[in-house]
Amino acid sequence: ISSSDLVESSLDAIEAHDSDLNAFVTVNDQKALAAAVALDKQGIDPDNKLAGIPIAYKDNIVTKGVRTTAGSHMLDNFEPVYDATVVEKLENSGMINLGKTNMDEFAMGSSTETSYFKPTRNPWDLDRVPGGSSGGSAAAVAAGEVIAALGSDTGGSIRQPAAYNGIFGIKPTYGRVSRWGLIAFGSSFDQIGVMTRRVKDSAYILSAISGHDEKDSTSSKQAAPDFTQFISQDIKGLRIAVPDEFFGEGIDEEVKTQVEKGLQQLEQLGAVIDHVQLPYTKYCVPAYYVLASSEASSNLQRFDGIRYGFRAEDVKNLDDVYVKSRSEGFGPEVKRRIMLGTFALSAGYYDAYFNKAAQVRTLIKQDFEKVLADHDLIIGPTSPDTAFKLGENISDPLKLYFKDVLTISANMAGVPAASVPAGFDSHGLPVGMQMIAKRFDEGSIFKAASAFE
Ligand code: GLN
Repeated sequence: ISSSDLVESSLDAIEAHDSDLNAFVTVNDQKALAAAVALDKQGIDPDNKLAGIPIAYKDNIVTKGVRTTAGSHMLDNFEPVYDATVVEKLENSGMINLGKTNMDEFAMGSSTETSYFKPTRNPWDLDRVPGGSSGGSAAAVAAGEVIAALGSDTGGSIRQPAAYNGIFGIKPTYGRVSRWGLIAFGSSFDQIGVMTRRVKDSAYILSAISGHDEKDSTSSKQAAPDFTQFISQDIKGLRIAVPDEFFGEGIDEEVKTQVEKGLQQLEQLGAVIDHVQLPYTKYCVPAYYVLASSEASSNLQRFDGIRYGFRAEDVKNLDDVYVKSRSEGFGPEVKRRIMLGTFALSAGYYDAYFNKAAQVRTLIKQDFEKVLADHDLIIGPTSPDTAFKLGENISDPLKLYFKDVLTISANMAGVPAASVPAGFDSHGLPVGMQMIAKRFDEGSIFKAASAFE
């Protein structure tokens, strides 16, 4: 098959499903087809596994000449003049940018319902959310609109939608992948990662996007291995820690059952399972929402109505430009985070909130380091539940925040984590099993995850 065949079949699938799903904000149809035709003409190197294959990008990853909205009214007319490093790298590998996927506004949310461009729907049940914030990427892959998509994960935004859509999604180690060109939310948490149906496909793509980038000083100098070498490797002797806190109160019984089944399968293949404690798990959510919102309040200062993005009309003076542009350009969840973060960082409250939360972050990190010192993986559910109904949680932010309880800690600790499909609940909705590894040991995740295929 040629690259144009692949692009055309993706475009056909989008044509067939996306009016129901709304997984894409922008379909890059003309340019994608032209790129595929050019590549076919030039001839594809059969050793290059990624060449000619279409991929979609979450809409907070900037793409030169292709509108990049971050799911926000603020950026609905933003056409970047450069590519994110990940885009550049995949383009150099010959991948074709098929389009930009829907997301919660500025990646703040867990259901893709805070998008300015209307929610995405879950392909397994159109009345349900696809999770978020990378819900568009997850739904597009699950529905077969595209083979692979990139997402971003600040507190679970790759893993939770991967779980809700029954696909594989990996958030690599903090620093593994350059964040240059990722529209920042919480810079000390954000990582770009990969979402695919097959584990091996993610291994190919993660290998291609990893590595140091001089444009991102937080990207690691550690060389990235070819992650495909870990696929289907023997897992005999793999040491797995199962935290009691990940199976406690508030976690759906059917989710627990499916994940326990997955653990039994790994045990049968020779993995060794230990039960452990991560006592600080319960402080993850409050600490994260203070820290991530603080970082967001600072990162989002650049949207001032002057430099780029939305500018309000009928303004009287400079203050008016700022106030009106930000009031009209941002949605309610983004405003909530900016206010929360500004408050937590303000003089007089900094020690009580930001500093306290930063201390909690250190304790959570230590919790993880202790357990991972003598285990290869921590395994539990990805999310406390399966995909919920559209509208069910959107008016109760705290309820939604607490759903992140199992994913946030990996971002706090900077460790790699993935969601792997682990069966279905009694409504036929996919369940995700989370695998968390030591820093720079994505290999153990690929090993264990590929055992399920
Ligand atoms: N649900 C979390 C939040 O709203 C995580 C989002 C993310 O990982 N980008 O902040």
